[in-house]
Amino acid sequence: MIRYAVLGSGSSGNAYVFSDGADSIIVDNGFSRAELIRRCDAAGADWDTVRAVFVTHMHPDHCRGVGTLARKDGFPVFISAVAGKLCTPELARMAVPGGQLNTIDEGEERPVGGFRVRCFYTSHDSSGSVGYRIDHKQGCFCIVTDTGCFDERMVGAALESDVLFLESNYEPRMLKSGPYPPPLKKRIDGRFGHLSNEQAKDFLVRCGFYRDPGTDIQGQLCYNQPDCRVRRVYLVHLSSTNNSVELLRSRYSSLGDRLYVCPKGEMACGVLGGQ
Ligand SMILES: [Zn+2]
Ligand SMILES: [Zn+2]
Repeated sequence: MIRYAVLGSGSSGNAYVFSDGADSIIVDNGFSRAELIRRCDAAGADWDTVRAVFVTHMHPDHCRGVGTLARKDGFPVFISAVAGKLCTPELARMAVPGGQLNTIDEGEERPVGGFRVRCFYTSHDSSGSVGYRIDHKQGCFCIVTDTGCFDERMVGAALESDVLFLESNYEPRMLKSGPYPPPLKKRIDGRFGHLSNEQAKDFLVRCGFYRDPGTDIQGQLCYNQPDCRVRRVYLVHLSSTNNSVELLRSRYSSLGDRLYVCPKGEMACGVLGGQ
């Protein structure tokens, strides 16, 4: 059985944990060490089993707490090969001790205990940003966040996962009429920004979620594709200013508990596989 959790998502801090009881991996840490340990504990992941930290990209809400973990706990840290080449100032700030910083590139696989981790590049304004696919004999997870658009590689990784963590950052009309200054609006809905609710929905359709013509008037999606492996979707990295948890929950109500909307900053825990 794998215990997994969104330990937090959105601009206040991002982190995920995946644990099979013997080994655990963390993806991103935008929290203090104490807060991350508290959240792992609440998710049922034993801190003593944490073996490695994987980083999606160098924005502070994803990596501000990574250096501390490397220095205090001695965890190896993995960043993408491109980030390793291009993010010199960010890496200097992160201050991972020599020898503990590792890279992973598309097409490579990093084994950690019973987990096998692969990455795919995303389209974001942080050099070498990636999403991750995490395989285990008990099941497969995929994280697709912080990307202004998606492509076949991301869809391909998601299609093979049992649990998908997908960014659904903003509702386009709320961003448009909202309080953000124009350059920030442009950044968010640009090619190197974030996935909108519409893009996330298109992504789910590509993953085999069926757009039922009978219910599409309300924008509802159904789950009746026999070849769709994704059993559970977590919509994450929601903006609290330009999005609405209630709106998304009602829009996806036909999916029942197959889809969970994670409010910014909050945890969401789950289990996958048998004993
Ligand atoms: Zn980012
Ligand atoms: Zn982010």
